Amino acid sequence: MTFEALGLNEDIVTAISYMGFEKATPIQEKAIPKIIDGKDLIACAQTGTGKTAAFILPVMHKIMASPSKKLNTLIVVPVRELAIQIDQQIEAFSYGTGITSLAIYGGGKGEDWGQEKRALSQGCDIVIATPGKLISHMNMGYVDFSELQHLILDEADRMLDIGFHEDIIKITKALPKNRQSLMFSATMPPKIRKLAKDILNNPDEISIAISKPAAGVLQASYLVHDHQKIRLIDRLISDKPEYESIIIFASTKKDVSETVRFLKKANVPVEGISSNLDQSERNDVMRRFRNKKFRVLVATDVISRGIDIKGINLVINYNVPKDAEDYVHRIGRTARADSTGVAITLINEDDMYAFSKIERLIEKEVIKIPPFPELGEGPTWREPNKHRAKGKSKGNYRGKRRHHGRSSI
Ligand code: AMP
Repeated sequence: MTFEALGLNEDIVTAISYMGFEKATPIQEKAIPKIIDGKDLIACAQTGTGKTAAFILPVMHKIMASPSKKLNTLIVVPVRELAIQIDQQIEAFSYGTGITSLAIYGGGKGEDWGQEKRALSQGCDIVIATPGKLISHMNMGYVDFSELQHLILDEADRMLDIGFHEDIIKITKALPKNRQSLMFSATMPPKIRKLAKDILNNPDEISIAISKPAAGVLQASYLVHDHQKIRLIDRLISDKPEYESIIIFASTKKDVSETVRFLKKANVPVEGISSNLDQSERNDVMRRFRNKKFRVLVATDVISRGIDIKGINLVINYNVPKDAEDYVHRIGRTARADSTGVAITLINEDDMYAFSKIERLIEKEVIKIPPFPELGEGPTWREPNKHRAKGKSKGNYRGKRRHHGRSSI
């Protein structure tokens, strides 16, 4: 379906066409008319489906239909990178429309405070904020939500995982009751349904491919010991110029810095990003990666969710993510919208159980490849079954009981 057929304002349709979007994605087709209609919405959509435009475009349409001087729309997001990225998308979509927006997030240098205060007190069409920083402003007493029309919670499941539940409730309590509220989440566990019940008003529900990686991602895995991982990565990327932009996800900062060091030695243009860097350094690395100034970005999970970088051809998971949902988020960095990409996961012996859980979640068996012969033999895949897992926990239980001097059951 075209964006015109969805009833969006002409100027917005023109801005969309400059971005090269021809047809609406399924989430956009479903969400845009409902949002224009004023319905509250709970939408289950993974990143890469076009969900950001699905809420930004109709909200912009409504702002243009009835402009106001005060803050119109509040978008609450879990991490600063996502706030910046949504702000950038709004900037692109709003070209020529006069709509104003500002990203407000913690970790900056403090000089942004005045500009943020002005936006929150004197008005700005759309504010995209992380909860902590927004609440710091709210506590100062000058935030004016009196004419707020729209609240959007993006990556709601991630916000609860980080522990923002109370903050979200505090923020929503400060907003006018007759607003429109939209909640987007990659997953729909019971705690998200409960939150939706608390803050949405009789919402419509939209669900797009729950917890499944985008269809265009080619997934594979290598069975390796830890000491083989870095050399395997080197082999995978060294004579593959077709992988122009690569992200390697590692669970720890130590793995990030070791991988960066090794690849630098091998003359690969590479940089790392983790919470070791301050906010402006992180922004700088992300900007240069987006602009293709270097080929490989090694990152901890700070950037795994919601961050959109065009043209990632290869995602490598240095470790299996502990949380199966994180796997979907990590490999969601590739094959955005209609393109294709490759996702490779390195599995050591300890990670086999976690990986089998991922396979259950995505309802797909991922091909498992031994390391290249010159790297030596890798571990053998063992299909971890429920039996083993049960036996293990029972053993622990007995051990504890014996410790207390009671008989085992
Ligand atoms: P998101 O799910 O919001 O992270 O969006 C994923 C990617 O798809 C982003 O690069 C968007 O710019 C792009 N995108 C969103 N909507 C469309 C569309 N209708 N056609 C083509 N690309 C789109």
